[in-house]
Amino acid sequence: MNHSINYSMNHSINYSMNHSINHPINHPINHPLDDQLDDRKASFELAFDSDSLVEFTQQLVRIPSVFDEARGLNEELVAQCIGEKMRSFGWTPQFDRVAPGRPNVFAVIEGDRPGPTLMFEGHSDVVTEGDPRRWSHDPFGAEIADGKLWGRGSADMKSGVAAMLFAADTVVRSGSFPGRIVVAALADEEGMMAGAKDFVARGRMDGVDGVICCEPEGGEICHVAKGALRLRIDFSGAMAHGAMPFQGRNPNRAVGSVLGALADLQDELQALHGDHQYLGKLWITPTVLRAGEPAQMNVMPGEASMWVDVRTIPSVDHDSFVVDVRSLISGVARAHQIDTVLTVIDDRPAVSMGEDHLLVRSLWNAHAAVYGSPPSLGGVPGATDGTVLTSRSGVPSVVYGPGGKWIAHQADEFVEVDEIISYCAVYADAAHRFLGSEALPS
Ligand SMILES: [Zn+2]
Repeated sequence: MNHSINYSMNHSINYSMNHSINHPINHPINHPLDDQLDDRKASFELAFDSDSLVEFTQQLVRIPSVFDEARGLNEELVAQCIGEKMRSFGWTPQFDRVAPGRPNVFAVIEGDRPGPTLMFEGHSDVVTEGDPRRWSHDPFGAEIADGKLWGRGSADMKSGVAAMLFAADTVVRSGSFPGRIVVAALADEEGMMAGAKDFVARGRMDGVDGVICCEPEGGEICHVAKGALRLRIDFSGAMAHGAMPFQGRNPNRAVGSVLGALADLQDELQALHGDHQYLGKLWITPTVLRAGEPAQMNVMPGEASMWVDVRTIPSVDHDSFVVDVRSLISGVARAHQIDTVLTVIDDRPAVSMGEDHLLVRSLWNAHAAVYGSPPSLGGVPGATDGTVLTSRSGVPSVVYGPGGKWIAHQADEFVEVDEIISYCAVYADAAHRFLGSEALPS
């Protein structure tokens, strides 16, 4: 590596002033952006207190921000804690009440001259820890052992939230930057993403030019994300005695036909759209079926319902997909002489950003500068707040954050402590690159 990262006694990261980026000829990743690896000299010195960063991550993990009404848990305390940290950096935190006990918290930091607006985004909620006996560390203890910080939310995504806050502070303290930085920790990502929806609905995305979602992606810059649709189909026929089914109309027969037809539709669309390079196939998965009562086995029910989880790739247009499903269902309904209602419970279109988008390039070059080797591009298999922010506001988003891609929601969730520190450095460097792009010589 030509550049050096020195962990000095006060644990700050110092870039040598003349660092340039190592550009290995035979690195395993072949990507066009490799040729554009930026070797301009760092015009600023990154310096943040990595001990405080790690301590703050621990502080966040120790607040169980699971949304669980039975246990009286929500995002209130963690949002207050994030707001306090923002205040300590000299920013003014703002709170939007998404639901009782479920605030979004964010701050807007103005640069010293006009320029673009970059937003760092994270979510403040975590999923349940599940059975604590399945953990070898206290799920909310934030213990550090073997170079790892353990606990629910350590990867997904309190380390990302902490790193983005400290990165923004680092940029501010570097003395000068154009444009604006928005730092937002939103509620309910693990549920229906009400925080992100609320953020867009209040116009908070107005003027934002790009979003970095700090979700754990194992070193990948995820410029594409799968889309998702949640559908509910209600079937109504007429109930009858099981001994005289001909006197009613059985919705369960229609449910069976729809299940078969959806499997055929999945085959057809998979063949049509193929495998996406980063996202794989689209999937149409019936997840929940409801009809009748086990205690009433001799009653043919009059009603049935089905829930379907659809995961799409960018070439699938959600509106025409829903039209296809609607016509498939009406065909079945006619054949079985029953009524059907299709409800779209949630609609999150796929995100697809160009590999050469400034946001992607800024992160790419920053990652390469900090790590000394290029990252890889990737795709998000699920949906994140970025999906909602991009589809509802049109602002491009990229997902990139500390922690393994597959560790989220598991017992013994952890993040490498070094990663929290490195990602903070990458975020700060990427912010300078993104915000200062207009001032760079072409
Ligand atoms: Zn997450």
